[in-house]
Amino acid sequence: MELPKPIKEFIEFISQFPGIGSRQATRLAFWLLHQEKEKKKKFLTISQHLLINTQICPNCFFVSERKKEKSQTKSLCEICSDRRRNPSLICVVEKETDLLTIEKTNKYKGLYHILGGLISKIDENKKQALTINQLILRIKKSSHSSQPVKEVILALNPTSEGNLTSYLLEKEINKLNLNIKITKLGRGLPQGSEVEFSDSETLINALLGRK
Ligand SMILES: [Zn+2]
Repeated sequence: MELPKPIKEFIEFISQFPGIGSRQATRLAFWLLHQEKEKKKKFLTISQHLLINTQICPNCFFVSERKKEKSQTKSLCEICSDRRRNPSLICVVEKETDLLTIEKTNKYKGLYHILGGLISKIDENKKQALTINQLILRIKKSSHSSQPVKEVILALNPTSEGNLTSYLLEKEINKLNLNIKITKLGRGLPQGSEVEFSDSETLINALLGRK
């Protein structure tokens, strides 16, 4: 038996989502098909809003809502444009959900930089897809401003990939010769754990005791 093509296509696509396998995608497809017309419509509109009405911050690569009136110009995200936050402090994270976990602690008042992934030994090419160059440029540019970056916190998972990425980032930042303090959050987290799933207390301790 072959599934109808539209269902097959949906399942194939949704199976690529993080944490979703083909079984879950199949259940999701049938669940959606059984919903009332209004709910189906809502699914289409919110998906469209997610993809069209958001934009990536040119500074830190976090997302923000695209304001309709200035849809052509990329504006800074809520965090980067918050003047109460300390622009001399940049916390480098792998992905958006890590940022959200750190924000939940309410203890971090600097800015962020989203790398978009980690470097692994087997896939060194991945380096090109990450926002490492943008981070270096951001630090360099800030050195000519009134609020230069003074500390970079590497908040990457304490895994082999996270450690390799931290090592390479540290090397790149030191090459700038700007006397930037580099600290690591990972040292305060259990080996092999993930920033995203760390509890607030552990993260706060790691933040306060960062070295
Ligand atoms: Zn931003």
